[in-house]
Amino acid sequence: MKIIETEGIVLKTMDFKEMDSILTFLTRDVGKKAGVLYGGKSVRSGNAAKAEMFVLNHLEFSEKPGSDLVRIRKCELLESFPPLRKNYSKFLHANYFSELLLQCEIPAVESQDYFELLKKSMTQLSNSKTAEEIKFNYELHLLKLLGIQPNLETCVHCGTDLWQKESGRIPAPKFSVPCQLDASLGGIRCPKCCISNSYSVGLHAGSLAFLRERQTRLGMDSAIRPTQNNLKELDQAFSLYFNYFFGRNIKSHTLLMENSWKN
Ligand SMILES: [Zn+2]
Repeated sequence: MKIIETEGIVLKTMDFKEMDSILTFLTRDVGKKAGVLYGGKSVRSGNAAKAEMFVLNHLEFSEKPGSDLVRIRKCELLESFPPLRKNYSKFLHANYFSELLLQCEIPAVESQDYFELLKKSMTQLSNSKTAEEIKFNYELHLLKLLGIQPNLETCVHCGTDLWQKESGRIPAPKFSVPCQLDASLGGIRCPKCCISNSYSVGLHAGSLAFLRERQTRLGMDSAIRPTQNNLKELDQAFSLYFNYFFGRNIKSHTLLMENSWKN
C-alpha cells in the first residue's frame, strides 16, 4: 500500500454516517482524491474545521487498489481562508472555482499547476474587496492549463486579421464594432462573420483588447485596466465557453450571476 503525503484543498464535502465526512480535494502532487475524514462532523474530534469547504490541509493517505476512496491517515489544517465562508459573494466565487475544477481531468503531473492556481486565487479572494477581476484571471489561467485558450489573432471563420499591428505598440482592434467569441470554433468571429447561435456571444472592441492583452501577458502586470462592462461581457463569454467545453452548465455560475452585476 502506497502512502502519500501532500497538501490538499477541499473542493467538496459530503456527510457520511453520523459523524464523518467524505472530502473531495485537489492535491498538490497527485490530482484530485476523495476520502473519508473520520469525525469530520464532530466538533469534539477537532476534525470539523478540516472538513470545511475551501480549507487547505496537510494530508497523509493511502490508496487501496480498486477503491474510489483513499484512506486518510492524518489530516492537519494549514489555512482556513475564513472570509470565503463568511462573505456570501466570496463564497459563491470560491464555490465556482471549485466546481470548475471538479469538472476537469487533472493528471498527477499537472496537479501542481492547478493546485497553485487555486491556492493563489483563494488567497486573493480571501484578502480582496472585489472578486470580478480575480475570477477573470482564474478563468483565463484555467483555459491555458486545459489547453483551450481561444484564438484571438484572426477570425476563426474567414481568417481575417483582427488587429492593427504597429511595431512597439500594443495592437489595437481592427474593428470598432463588436465581434463574437465562438465557443464551438474556439476563437473570435469578425463582425462580418457574426452569427446568431447559442455558442457565440458578442464582445465589444474594448473587451477583446483587454482579453488579448491579459491572455498574452498571463500572470504578469497588465497595462490595460478592465471596465465593469469588459468584465461583465467576458463573464458571459467564458461561461458559454466552459459550458461548451464541459458539455454541461456550471451550476454555481448561475448562482453567481444572480448575485453579481447588480449595478
Ligand atoms: Zn470573419
